[in-house]
Amino acid sequence: MTSGDQDAYVVVTGGSRGIGAATARVAAQAGYNLALTYKSNQSAADAVIQAVEEEGRRAVAQPFDMATGNVEELFQTFDAAGLGRLHGLVNNAGITGPIKCLTEIDQAMLDDLFRINITSLMLCMKEAALRMSTARGGAGGAIVNVSSRAGQLGGAGEWIHYAASKGAVDTLTEGAAKELGGEGIRVNAVSPGLIETEIHAAAGAPERLEKMVGGVPLGRAGAAEEVAEAIVWLLSGKSSYVSGANIAISGGR
Ligand code: NAP
Repeated sequence: MTSGDQDAYVVVTGGSRGIGAATARVAAQAGYNLALTYKSNQSAADAVIQAVEEEGRRAVAQPFDMATGNVEELFQTFDAAGLGRLHGLVNNAGITGPIKCLTEIDQAMLDDLFRINITSLMLCMKEAALRMSTARGGAGGAIVNVSSRAGQLGGAGEWIHYAASKGAVDTLTEGAAKELGGEGIRVNAVSPGLIETEIHAAAGAPERLEKMVGGVPLGRAGAAEEVAEAIVWLLSGKSSYVSGANIAISGGR
Protein backbone atom coordinates (compact mmCIF):
# COMPACT_ATOMS: atom_id res chain seq x y z
CA MET A 1 0.00 0.00 0.00
CA THR A 2 1.57 3.33 -0.96
CA SER A 3 -0.91 5.32 1.06
CA GLY A 4 -3.61 4.65 3.60
CA ASP A 5 -7.00 3.28 2.65
CA GLN A 6 -10.52 3.78 3.97
CA ASP A 7 -10.40 0.51 5.91
CA ALA A 8 -7.03 0.78 7.61
CA TYR A 9 -6.08 2.48 10.83
CA VAL A 10 -2.91 3.28 12.69
CA VAL A 11 -2.46 3.41 16.46
CA VAL A 12 -0.40 6.38 17.63
CA THR A 13 0.42 6.37 21.33
CA GLY A 14 0.86 9.85 22.79
CA GLY A 15 -1.04 11.27 19.83
CA SER A 16 -2.32 14.40 21.54
CA ARG A 17 0.79 16.60 21.40
CA GLY A 18 4.25 16.97 19.88
CA ILE A 19 5.57 14.31 17.50
CA GLY A 20 2.54 12.04 18.02
CA ALA A 21 0.04 14.77 17.13
CA ALA A 22 2.04 15.72 14.03
CA THR A 23 2.20 12.04 13.04
CA ALA A 24 -1.57 11.70 13.36
CA ARG A 25 -2.11 14.72 11.10
CA VAL A 26 0.36 13.51 8.44
CA ALA A 27 -1.02 9.96 8.62
CA ALA A 28 -4.54 11.29 8.05
CA GLN A 29 -3.29 13.18 4.99
CA ALA A 30 -1.85 9.85 3.77
CA GLY A 31 -5.30 8.28 4.12
CA TYR A 32 -5.20 6.37 7.38
CA ASN A 33 -7.81 6.38 10.12
CA LEU A 34 -6.29 7.00 13.57
CA ALA A 35 -6.58 5.45 17.01
CA LEU A 36 -4.81 7.77 19.43
CA THR A 37 -3.86 7.56 23.06
CA TYR A 38 -3.06 10.40 25.40
CA LYS A 39 -2.37 10.63 29.10
CA SER A 40 -4.66 13.41 30.32
CA ASN A 41 -4.78 16.35 27.88
CA GLN A 42 -8.22 15.76 26.37
CA SER A 43 -8.51 19.17 24.72
CA ALA A 44 -5.25 18.56 22.84
CA ALA A 45 -6.51 15.12 21.78
CA ASP A 46 -9.81 16.63 20.63
CA ALA A 47 -7.94 19.15 18.46
CA VAL A 48 -6.03 16.30 16.77
CA ILE A 49 -9.26 14.38 16.16
CA GLN A 50 -10.72 17.49 14.54
CA ALA A 51 -7.65 17.87 12.29
CA VAL A 52 -7.89 14.21 11.24
CA GLU A 53 -11.58 14.58 10.46
CA GLU A 54 -10.88 17.68 8.38
CA GLU A 55 -8.74 15.38 6.20
CA GLY A 56 -11.78 13.16 5.70
CA ARG A 57 -10.51 10.37 7.95
CA ARG A 58 -11.89 8.95 11.21
CA ALA A 59 -10.22 9.06 14.62
CA VAL A 60 -10.77 8.05 18.21
CA ALA A 61 -8.69 9.03 21.24
CA GLN A 62 -8.42 6.99 24.41
CA PRO A 63 -6.99 8.31 27.69
CA PHE A 64 -4.36 5.78 28.69
CA ASP A 65 -1.47 6.03 31.14
CA MET A 66 1.43 3.91 29.88
CA ALA A 67 2.69 3.71 33.47
CA THR A 68 -0.37 1.91 34.79
CA GLY A 69 -2.75 0.97 31.96
CA ASN A 70 -3.69 -2.47 30.58
CA VAL A 71 -2.39 -2.60 26.99
CA GLU A 72 -4.44 -5.66 26.03
CA GLU A 73 -7.65 -3.87 27.01
CA LEU A 74 -6.52 -0.75 25.14
CA PHE A 75 -6.23 -2.65 21.86
CA GLN A 76 -9.58 -4.37 22.48
CA THR A 77 -11.12 -0.89 22.77
CA PHE A 78 -9.61 0.01 19.40
CA ASP A 79 -10.82 -3.31 17.88
CA ALA A 80 -14.36 -2.20 18.68
CA ALA A 81 -14.01 1.35 17.34
CA GLY A 82 -15.00 0.55 13.75
CA LEU A 83 -11.88 2.04 12.16
CA GLY A 84 -11.18 -0.93 9.86
CA ARG A 85 -8.21 -3.29 10.07
CA LEU A 86 -5.07 -2.41 12.00
CA HIS A 87 -2.32 -1.43 9.55
CA GLY A 88 0.28 0.09 11.83
CA LEU A 89 1.51 1.09 15.27
CA VAL A 90 3.50 4.21 16.10
CA ASN A 91 4.99 3.65 19.54
CA ASN A 92 5.49 7.32 20.32
CA ALA A 93 4.41 7.97 23.93
CA GLY A 94 7.47 8.45 26.08
CA ILE A 95 8.91 10.54 28.87
CA THR A 96 12.45 11.62 29.71
CA GLY A 97 12.09 11.63 33.46
CA PRO A 98 13.74 14.50 35.31
CA ILE A 99 17.24 15.74 34.52
CA LYS A 100 19.40 13.86 37.04
CA CYS A 101 22.87 12.33 37.28
CA LEU A 102 23.26 8.60 37.91
CA THR A 103 24.00 9.27 41.59
CA GLU A 104 20.68 11.12 42.01
CA ILE A 105 18.25 8.61 40.49
CA ASP A 106 15.80 6.55 42.53
CA GLN A 107 13.90 3.33 41.98
CA ALA A 108 10.40 4.84 41.76
CA MET A 109 11.52 7.12 38.92
CA LEU A 110 13.17 4.23 37.08
CA ASP A 111 10.14 1.95 37.53
CA ASP A 112 7.87 4.62 36.03
CA LEU A 113 10.22 5.47 33.17
CA PHE A 114 10.93 1.90 32.12
CA ARG A 115 7.27 0.88 32.37
CA ILE A 116 6.28 3.75 30.05
CA ASN A 117 9.21 3.73 27.63
CA ILE A 118 9.93 0.00 27.46
CA THR A 119 7.38 -2.37 29.03
CA SER A 120 4.19 -0.79 27.71
CA LEU A 121 5.85 -0.07 24.36
CA MET A 122 6.78 -3.75 24.04
CA LEU A 123 3.27 -4.86 25.00
CA CYS A 124 1.88 -2.52 22.31
CA MET A 125 4.18 -4.23 19.80
CA LYS A 126 2.82 -7.58 20.95
CA GLU A 127 -0.84 -6.57 20.58
CA ALA A 128 -0.21 -5.02 17.15
CA ALA A 129 1.70 -8.10 15.97
CA LEU A 130 -1.11 -10.42 17.10
CA ARG A 131 -3.51 -8.47 14.89
CA MET A 132 -1.30 -7.77 11.85
CA SER A 133 0.62 -11.06 11.50
CA THR A 134 -0.09 -12.91 8.26
CA ALA A 135 0.57 -16.13 10.22
CA ARG A 136 -2.50 -15.28 12.32
CA GLY A 137 -4.84 -14.20 9.53
CA GLY A 138 -3.79 -10.56 9.49
CA ALA A 139 -2.83 -8.54 6.43
CA GLY A 140 0.66 -7.56 7.59
CA GLY A 141 1.61 -4.06 8.62
CA ALA A 142 4.27 -1.79 10.05
CA ILE A 143 5.52 -0.81 13.49
CA VAL A 144 7.48 2.39 14.03
CA ASN A 145 9.14 2.87 17.41
CA VAL A 146 10.04 6.43 18.37
CA SER A 147 13.47 6.12 19.93
CA SER A 148 15.92 8.99 20.46
CA ARG A 149 19.46 9.96 19.48
CA ALA A 150 20.03 9.81 23.24
CA GLY A 151 19.95 6.02 22.88
CA GLN A 152 23.26 6.19 20.99
CA LEU A 153 24.72 9.38 22.53
CA GLY A 154 24.22 8.20 26.13
CA GLY A 155 22.53 11.21 27.74
CA ALA A 156 25.45 11.86 30.10
CA GLY A 157 24.87 14.68 32.60
CA GLU A 158 21.18 14.87 31.71
CA TRP A 159 19.40 11.57 31.65
CA ILE A 160 21.28 8.33 31.12
CA HIS A 161 18.13 6.65 32.49
CA TYR A 162 16.16 7.99 29.50
CA ALA A 163 18.97 7.13 27.08
CA ALA A 164 19.10 3.58 28.43
CA SER A 165 15.37 3.16 27.86
CA LYS A 166 15.80 4.27 24.24
CA GLY A 167 18.74 1.88 23.82
CA ALA A 168 16.29 -0.86 24.76
CA VAL A 169 13.85 0.46 22.14
CA ASP A 170 16.61 0.19 19.52
CA THR A 171 17.28 -3.43 20.50
CA LEU A 172 13.56 -4.27 20.48
CA THR A 173 13.29 -2.81 16.99
CA GLU A 174 16.19 -4.88 15.71
CA GLY A 175 14.94 -8.12 17.24
CA ALA A 176 11.28 -7.70 16.35
CA ALA A 177 12.15 -6.84 12.74
CA LYS A 178 13.90 -10.21 12.48
CA GLU A 179 11.17 -12.10 14.33
CA LEU A 180 8.19 -10.60 12.49
CA GLY A 181 9.59 -10.10 8.98
CA GLY A 182 8.31 -13.50 7.87
CA GLU A 183 4.82 -12.56 9.08
CA GLY A 184 4.44 -9.50 6.86
CA ILE A 185 5.32 -6.98 9.56
CA ARG A 186 8.10 -4.44 9.08
CA VAL A 187 9.57 -2.94 12.26
CA ASN A 188 11.60 0.27 12.21
CA ALA A 189 12.63 3.09 14.51
CA VAL A 190 13.20 6.80 14.19
CA SER A 191 15.69 8.54 16.44
CA PRO A 192 14.86 12.23 16.74
CA GLY A 193 17.43 14.71 17.97
CA LEU A 194 16.45 18.11 19.38
CA ILE A 195 12.81 18.61 18.38
CA GLU A 196 10.62 21.56 19.35
CA THR A 197 7.96 20.06 21.62
CA GLU A 198 6.89 20.47 25.24
CA ILE A 199 8.94 17.47 26.42
CA HIS A 200 11.92 19.64 27.38
CA ALA A 201 9.84 21.89 29.63
CA ALA A 202 8.20 18.79 31.12
CA ALA A 203 11.68 17.56 32.09
CA GLY A 204 12.29 20.87 33.86
CA ALA A 205 14.51 22.43 31.16
CA PRO A 206 12.45 24.76 28.94
CA GLU A 207 15.66 26.48 27.76
CA ARG A 208 17.30 23.19 26.71
CA LEU A 209 16.89 23.51 22.93
CA GLU A 210 18.18 27.07 22.89
CA LYS A 211 21.24 26.03 24.89
CA MET A 212 22.06 22.95 22.80
CA VAL A 213 21.20 23.98 19.27
CA GLY A 214 24.77 25.20 18.65
CA GLY A 215 25.85 21.54 18.57
CA VAL A 216 23.51 20.68 15.70
CA PRO A 217 25.28 20.63 12.30
CA LEU A 218 22.17 21.96 10.54
CA GLY A 219 22.13 24.83 13.06
CA ARG A 220 18.57 24.56 14.33
CA ALA A 221 16.14 22.39 16.24
CA GLY A 222 13.72 20.21 14.28
CA ALA A 223 9.95 20.47 13.99
CA ALA A 224 7.62 17.64 15.00
CA GLU A 225 6.35 17.51 11.41
CA GLU A 226 9.85 16.69 10.15
CA VAL A 227 9.82 13.56 12.32
CA ALA A 228 6.22 12.75 11.39
CA GLU A 229 7.00 12.68 7.66
CA ALA A 230 9.61 9.96 8.19
CA ILE A 231 7.30 7.97 10.47
CA VAL A 232 4.46 7.99 7.94
CA TRP A 233 6.88 7.01 5.16
CA LEU A 234 7.94 4.03 7.29
CA LEU A 235 4.26 3.10 7.76
CA SER A 236 3.57 3.26 4.03
CA GLY A 237 4.31 0.93 1.15
CA LYS A 238 6.82 3.47 -0.11
CA SER A 239 9.26 1.91 2.39
CA SER A 240 8.26 -1.67 1.49
CA TYR A 241 11.83 -3.06 1.68
CA VAL A 242 12.82 -1.19 4.85
CA SER A 243 12.80 -3.18 8.09
CA GLY A 244 15.12 -3.13 11.09
CA ALA A 245 16.20 0.42 10.21
CA ASN A 246 16.74 3.22 12.70
CA ILE A 247 16.58 6.62 11.02
CA ALA A 248 18.27 9.53 12.78
CA ILE A 249 16.22 12.71 12.39
CA SER A 250 18.59 15.00 14.17
CA GLY A 251 20.04 17.59 11.81
CA GLY A 252 23.29 15.60 11.79
CA ARG A 253 23.75 15.52 15.58
P1 NAP B 1 5.49 15.58 24.24
O1 NAP B 1 5.35 16.77 23.36
O2 NAP B 1 5.83 15.74 25.67
O3 NAP B 1 4.16 14.71 24.08
C1 NAP B 1 4.06 13.52 24.84
C2 NAP B 1 2.84 12.73 24.41
O4 NAP B 1 2.85 11.51 25.15
C3 NAP B 1 1.54 13.42 24.75
O5 NAP B 1 0.57 12.99 23.83
C4 NAP B 1 1.24 12.90 26.16
O6 NAP B 1 -0.17 12.91 26.49
C5 NAP B 1 1.74 11.48 26.04
N1 NAP B 1 2.17 10.93 27.33
C6 NAP B 1 3.01 11.49 28.24
N2 NAP B 1 3.14 10.69 29.30
C7 NAP B 1 2.37 9.61 29.06
C8 NAP B 1 2.04 8.45 29.81
N3 NAP B 1 2.53 8.22 31.05
N4 NAP B 1 1.18 7.56 29.27
C9 NAP B 1 0.64 7.79 28.05
N5 NAP B 1 0.91 8.85 27.29
C10 NAP B 1 1.75 9.76 27.80
O7 NAP B 1 6.63 14.58 23.67
P2 NAP B 1 7.41 14.55 22.26
O8 NAP B 1 8.56 15.46 22.36
O9 NAP B 1 6.45 14.67 21.14
O10 NAP B 1 8.01 13.07 22.34
C11 NAP B 1 7.39 11.97 21.71
C12 NAP B 1 8.41 10.85 21.62
O11 NAP B 1 9.57 11.32 20.93
C13 NAP B 1 8.90 10.35 22.98
O12 NAP B 1 9.02 8.94 22.95
C14 NAP B 1 10.27 11.00 23.13
O13 NAP B 1 11.13 10.26 23.94
C15 NAP B 1 10.72 11.03 21.67
N6 NAP B 1 11.77 12.03 21.41
C16 NAP B 1 11.50 13.37 21.50
C17 NAP B 1 12.51 14.29 21.26
C18 NAP B 1 12.31 15.78 21.34
O14 NAP B 1 13.31 16.54 21.28
N7 NAP B 1 11.08 16.27 21.47
C19 NAP B 1 13.79 13.83 20.91
C20 NAP B 1 14.01 12.47 20.83
C21 NAP B 1 12.98 11.57 21.08
P3 NAP B 1 -0.85 14.25 27.16
O15 NAP B 1 -0.97 15.26 26.04
O16 NAP B 1 -2.18 13.77 27.65
O17 NAP B 1 0.05 14.69 28.26
